[in-house]
Order: sequence, then structure tokens, then C-alpha cells
Amino acid sequence: MYSIESIMISENSTRVGLLCVCPECKNPVDLSRYPNVTAGMVIECDRCGMTLLVKDITNNSVGTEIIDAGK
Ligand SMILES: [Zn+2]
Repeated sequence: MYSIESIMISENSTRVGLLCVCPECKNPVDLSRYPNVTAGMVIECDRCGMTLLVKDITNNSVGTEIIDAGK
């Protein structure tokens, strides 16, 4: 008999990918283009084209900061 907890744990262990939400358009950035994303890396939002600097990565969540391209 499976408890709800054990089901949740098994789902968490099935390779949870990194999540990066674009601070500009609030959409998740496709990180498959950046398989080795690390802090200090510059990535680009595939939705709005915003250039983002990776600040930190904690708990599978990628923190970013908008880089003003100086328009
Ligand atoms: Zn975006």
C-alpha cells in the first residue's frame, strides 16, 4: 500500500531539471540549450530574447538578473 508521501518522493527523484523563470516575461527559460549552466553564465530567454546573468543556483532553481544590453 503506497502512501501519498512515498509517491511524492519517487516523483522528486525522477530527475528534476533546473528551473529558471525569466524575470522579464515570467516564462520558464529553456535550459536545455545550457546543459552546464553555472553562476556567472550569461543565458538568453527563448521567449522574449532578454539577456540574463545567472546569479545563483539553489534547489534546482536558477536565479537570474536582467542584463541591460544598453539599448
Ligand atoms: Zn523572457
